[in-house]
Amino acid sequence: MESPANTDKTTASKQPAKQKWILPGAGLYQGLVVTAKNFIQSYYKKERLTTVQYPEERAPISPNFRNFPFLVHDGDDADVGLRCTACTICEKSCPPQCIYIVLDRDENGKSKKRPKVFDIDLSVCMNCGICAEVCPFDSIYMDNEFELSKDDRFGGMLYGLDRLVKSTEFHAKIRPEEAAQVAASRKAAAEKKAAAAIVKAERLKKKAEDDRLKKEEEKEAAQAAETPESPEDDTTKGDSE
Ligand code: SF4
Ligand code: SF4
Repeated sequence: MESPANTDKTTASKQPAKQKWILPGAGLYQGLVVTAKNFIQSYYKKERLTTVQYPEERAPISPNFRNFPFLVHDGDDADVGLRCTACTICEKSCPPQCIYIVLDRDENGKSKKRPKVFDIDLSVCMNCGICAEVCPFDSIYMDNEFELSKDDRFGGMLYGLDRLVKSTEFHAKIRPEEAAQVAASRKAAAEKKAAAAIVKAERLKKKAEDDRLKKEEEKEAAQAAETPESPEDDTTKGDSE
């Protein structure tokens, strides 16, 4: 038989919970209060101000903001440190075909693995960032510069190497995370390459040593074959005759 206490518990659990009375449309009033608070504070609270006195004042640019591409160079000399090898992958991948590359060659026609001409028509570029994604040499990235208006619709927006090439410091300034990742992966790749070069050099050294020893052995064997037989052998030979 069920105890009265248990019966009370079962009855209590079956009773619907007492609902809190809510003013109809309370959520709407709460939202309006938040809006009013933001609106009033936006006149005197710095962090709530939605506008800045541009161009004297500038709002911070998000690292994710991208505009047009730029080329990166290592070191101080843009000519020497240019990473671009003129492989033309970006040129072929650019959807509106606004990149134009000419490979630099020496007097014998041999590739210098760098561009002689690298133009981007910014008036055509659609800021997609595909060129930066496909580049296998960490050479092209998206800039965040946006004050580019010119009175020359065509020539003014055709950017060549002189305006496209920027330093790694610039890259680190506008996209610190991306630049740090690239620097780390390039460092790891350089270390791997250096380690492979050491292994290769040691292998070549060992091979050269083995070749030297083999040649010495062959030389000694040839000398031994050319050496005349000893007189003792001659005597023995004469006796027997
Ligand atoms: S951002 Fe897009 S459109 Fe612009 S150059 Fe790169 S690939 Fe071409
Ligand atoms: S920017 Fe990159 S993908 Fe484009 S040509 Fe240079 S190395 Fe090749």
